[in-house]
Amino acid sequence: MGNVFRRSSGRGWRLRRSSMTLWPSWIETLQPFAPELRFQSPLLQLAEDSSAVERQRQLVEQRPELGLELVRAEHCPLPCAGGLRSAEDGWINPLVLQKALRQAIHQGPIQQKNVKVCRLSRERVKAGSLWRIESDDGDSSLHAAVVICSALDSAALLEPLGHQRPMSAVLGQVLALELDAPPKNWNTWPAVLVHKGFNLIPTGPCTLLLGATLEPGEQADPTHLSAMQRLLGKATDWIERAKVSGSWCGLRARPVDRAAPMLEMLEPGLILATGHYRNGVLLTPATAEWIKDQLDDLMETNF
Ligand SMILES: Cc1cc2nc3c(=O)[nH]c(=O)nc-3n(C[C@H](O)[C@H](O)[C@H](O)COP(=O)(O)OP(=O)(O)OC[C@H]3O[C@@H](n4cnc5c(N)ncnc54)[C@H](O)[C@@H]3O)c2cc1C
Repeated sequence: MGNVFRRSSGRGWRLRRSSMTLWPSWIETLQPFAPELRFQSPLLQLAEDSSAVERQRQLVEQRPELGLELVRAEHCPLPCAGGLRSAEDGWINPLVLQKALRQAIHQGPIQQKNVKVCRLSRERVKAGSLWRIESDDGDSSLHAAVVICSALDSAALLEPLGHQRPMSAVLGQVLALELDAPPKNWNTWPAVLVHKGFNLIPTGPCTLLLGATLEPGEQADPTHLSAMQRLLGKATDWIERAKVSGSWCGLRARPVDRAAPMLEMLEPGLILATGHYRNGVLLTPATAEWIKDQLDDLMETNF
């Protein structure tokens, strides 16, 4: 949800614009590594009442170049007050994206190590600081720059260095559903339908992803899943009847007392890029671009 973001200024909006601009070239570059990688659009966000329709109308007026259009209630797949269709918003399968990224990095001069970093420390040198990384395989190495992107575990690495960046966990659960029969208008459903804060993503002739719950903490509560299936109301009792063919959950890292994400050069060479809360996939290209700019700046100052 990049172009349908509710605000039109500030860092959140700029990061979304940057990501939305970069995604097409990212997909093109990554597709050779995972041909099944696709950006599936459009996205249709349903409005529950007339004030939501009015907010959607304002977005369409403010962003004429971004492919947004209002959809009348009678043309929306579920009962609602109206909808906002965004031609360029949609979804990417994150597992396929990760597969493509893993394959792509093998092409570069990149050494991958699947180890846990247990300590990060500063070593003063004439020109400033170097960063020592110690990992749980007993290895230790010195670097001019480190980028910390370890989500909820980042705070523990930063604290001994004098940086407090607490984050809280917000658990999310998703359901994979098999419908006994699809609704009549199934063929005209968008790639993503956003309704009452949930995403409904058709994945096949009779299958659907429904998610995600927002549960503060790290413990999954099954009652949130059934509530999500029921929340869409009578008009979607076919969702309530659907067979659950799969479910999974994950933790979102939400910065405490700060806006997500945390993109900061804490000290020369100590870069924090994490705490993306609900938007880490969407903001992947913008985050990578920001990190690249920081590293370029660092190189320029050091040489
Ligand atoms: C149910 C659900 C639905 C979501 N839906 C969306 C969506 O629709 N759109 C969207 O943009 N985002 C979505 N998100 C959010 C998105 O998944 C996250 O923002 C994103 O995964 C954050 O990526 P990350 O790499 O920063 O953190 P993580 O994915 O949490 O990864 C952190 C990594 O750091 C590693 N690590 C931790 N500590 C150490 C250490 N000491 N040493 C080495 N490695 C370490 C971990 O092993 C892990 O691999 C969703 C999240 C959930 C849970």
